[in-house]
Amino acid sequence: MTTKRATTESVIKQFAKYVIGNYKRLPVVIVRGKGCYVWDARSRRYLDLFPGWAVSGIGHCHPRVVRAVREQVGRLIHVANNYYSVPQGELAERLSRKSFGGQCFFCNSGAEANEAAIKLARIATPPGKNKIITMHNSFHGRTLATVKATAQPKYQKGFEPLPQGFGYVPFNDFRALERAVNPRTCAVMIEPIQGEGGINVASERYLKQVRKLCDRKKILLIFDEVQTGMGRTGEYFAYQTYGVVPDIMTLAKALGGGVAIGAMVARPEIAAKLVPGSHASTFGGNALAAAAACAVFDAIDDEKLLENTRKMSRYAFRKLAELRKRHEVITDLRGKGLMIGVELAKPGAGVVDRCRKKGLLINCTHDVVLRFMPPMIVEESHIDEGVAILDEALAEEFGN
Ligand code: PLP
Repeated sequence: MTTKRATTESVIKQFAKYVIGNYKRLPVVIVRGKGCYVWDARSRRYLDLFPGWAVSGIGHCHPRVVRAVREQVGRLIHVANNYYSVPQGELAERLSRKSFGGQCFFCNSGAEANEAAIKLARIATPPGKNKIITMHNSFHGRTLATVKATAQPKYQKGFEPLPQGFGYVPFNDFRALERAVNPRTCAVMIEPIQGEGGINVASERYLKQVRKLCDRKKILLIFDEVQTGMGRTGEYFAYQTYGVVPDIMTLAKALGGGVAIGAMVARPEIAAKLVPGSHASTFGGNALAAAAACAVFDAIDDEKLLENTRKMSRYAFRKLAELRKRHEVITDLRGKGLMIGVELAKPGAGVVDRCRKKGLLINCTHDVVLRFMPPMIVEESHIDEGVAILDEALAEEFGN
């Protein structure tokens, strides 16, 4: 690959001609990443507090992931799923032991993990039970079924007809869910903390009520932990912070430390319904991605990153609470662990832009929620640096 002559201008021009324009891209060509920082083609450094849309959960190019990938790539990259491979088995065992003793199916993305969960929920429940209830403002992916599961019309518009068998209720509203359940309901699918929906945190009481309802009505509980999983909340999985165990859990994003991999974990008696021929993914759980994901587990455990996430979460919330006192435009601060939303009274796109120009990468979702998902390796100095830039950007955009 020739990267030598690539400049910001040449790459943007190349994209304009050859890459489909389905993403709104910021005018930065990122060429290198290490830990909490990335560098662009002009050698400018950015503090990345939203690394890879929550993919680089343990930071960019974590040395353990780099080493594991380098070693694995020279040994075996891919083996078809009609054979066994060592890294896939190893990863499945780690996932199972760290969560609820389930069995794993591997794929390549969050949407695929959710597709698998939808198919499993339907096949594992009696005939006629095929309806899945999801939450307003959810986000479950961009395939046709996961777009239908995503209860936000803006993602569905124009792509109809969409698969049937989905119903929506407001998030955190137990009575509404109770009313929506009927004999055709086979599953309830929830993000314990809605990410794209604006960092909306499910209450413990709610999730406990949902679990009881599912048990009572023999409905499967699916937690979409694509964004909340792999340490983000200060526990390996967000469900562990609630003490509410799902029947099926989906993962992707941070699982592979930057390498594409998705997973569905299901209680063994449910998982048993996915028999040969019922579901598959050619690349799913390939040796390279599985080796990378095993290295993520090693890093989290050996470097005590769950502890660091909890500690840095407390620090970040304290710093942001101080910031809030200085900026009336901040109307709410919410989240868990290092999944943090700062809600503004006005649209936040201008703030994101100003931050980027000052060397800080963050995100804004739902127009008004600034989203921070720092890597689990973050230190106080990074949070100080980020909050100082944000302070300036807010002042310039809105005044104090
Ligand atoms: N589920 C959740 C909660 C997500 O946040 C996302 C992506 O943002 C997805 C599913 C879809 O994942 P992917 O883009 O890997 O298909």
